[in-house]
Amino acid sequence: MNLSKFSRRQTIEVQIGTTKIGGKNPIAVQSMTNTATADVAASVAQIERIADAGAPIVRLTAQGKAEGEAFASIMPQLRGEGYNTAIVADIHFVPQIASIAADYVDKVRINPGNYRTDGGELEALIEKCRKRGVALRIGVNHGSLARHIVDTHGDTPQGMVASAMEFLRRCRDCNFDQVVVSMKSSNTRVMVHAYRLLVEAMEGEDMHYPIHLGVTEAGNGIEGRIKSAVGIGALLADGIGDTIRVSLTEAPENEIPVARMLVEHFSARSGEFTVLHPERYSPTEYRRRSDIQTPIVHSEISDEFMVIDALSQNPTTEWRAAILNLENQKQPVVIRRRYTDSDLTTVAIKAAADMGQLLLDGLADGVWIDAPQFSSEDIEQIELHILQASRVRISHTEYIACPSCGRTLYDIEGTLAQIKQRTSHLKGLKIGVMGCIVNGPGEMADADYGYVGAAAGKITLYKGREVVERNIPQEQALDRLIEIIKQNGDWIEC
Ligand code: SF4
Repeated sequence: MNLSKFSRRQTIEVQIGTTKIGGKNPIAVQSMTNTATADVAASVAQIERIADAGAPIVRLTAQGKAEGEAFASIMPQLRGEGYNTAIVADIHFVPQIASIAADYVDKVRINPGNYRTDGGELEALIEKCRKRGVALRIGVNHGSLARHIVDTHGDTPQGMVASAMEFLRRCRDCNFDQVVVSMKSSNTRVMVHAYRLLVEAMEGEDMHYPIHLGVTEAGNGIEGRIKSAVGIGALLADGIGDTIRVSLTEAPENEIPVARMLVEHFSARSGEFTVLHPERYSPTEYRRRSDIQTPIVHSEISDEFMVIDALSQNPTTEWRAAILNLENQKQPVVIRRRYTDSDLTTVAIKAAADMGQLLLDGLADGVWIDAPQFSSEDIEQIELHILQASRVRISHTEYIACPSCGRTLYDIEGTLAQIKQRTSHLKGLKIGVMGCIVNGPGEMADADYGYVGAAAGKITLYKGREVVERNIPQEQALDRLIEIIKQNGDWIEC
């Protein structure tokens, strides 16, 4: 990692259909459909909407044979309609489906945590991919690590890296390099540390595979955008990342302008800053630098705090260098930057992308978005969301909501809105809202309560990792969730 200036990590080029990522190629943005994959007409229409919004890569879930075989119809229809969009099949459990999908698609994503690979199934898939020129993504998720990894490393960034490296070495042993790797988590600190550790581990073994960045279950609206910008921005700022997905619990095409804005935001990062004490920086371990326990927003500033303005085109590196160079390392610091955009969401995304890293690394003690074109209250809300997304100060209810996909069993966007309406005053509570019972419970990580699609029209409710109500009709599920929150003493009247 270059602490003084922006430099993009050198990676090999991977070909995904007609799209290339890694090497000198621009960072590609991508999204995922939430139609039933086997509904070919609906899936093709949604791929085209996502492509029209500007994504060269689109992923679809392939959980069973019908979905795997649907690619036989989806691909020619899409190409026939003039779309060269690179298509990715997302496989979770069944290696045979990867093998079916690899006959048609441009890339296959497998999750080492729940993909059974005994008996040479990975090697067989690699051979198939090699023959057809299909790329492979090793997609590790914090919430679904394999049992043997959790037993050895725990549920940690180190475990995520061990899981990825195990599969990457097998790819290398097969002499197959058309590989992309990801380390997703809904916890931005875990996610950023995992990617940095992965880069370290890959460099140590002379591996230069491109990296796919994403924060899982980021939710929707301004919070979802800020959370993704914090996690993805913290890595793009150091040149890590060759393709990105901003996951939102919204129509997938809404993800693309946010992703494009992030790519554009990090495209010009000139400026070089001397770092006198690189040894003070700990990129893969969280350490609070000062004694401030609760980082502040602009309206809370006092004489105790030093304000550091970043004026260059590379504010993240500029702030980091200035803080690491401070003689008194205990000096509390607020980072400030002027944003002149006329749209509040744009300011929120840019500020989150610039400032998040300093909070995730424990270097900054407060944020100040200097944007007098908006009210102080609006700016304060954005600042609070940035602090929350960076996991240094909790001021809102946190929703760990999946973006939905072809496995989703209910209208997750509408349901999330209803859940928010009734619970958004429960400050500090984490509520998971997940589309399917197969991946949902694992992926909602450290949620206090969970609302998970179990079957068509049926919801299963969780308290932590324990099932409290199984398969209840969806019409009753929100009331029951609130009763459970009350029974556990976590409810407050608003
Ligand atoms: S948790 Fe959501 S995004 Fe993940 S597989 Fe299930 S429905 Fe799809």
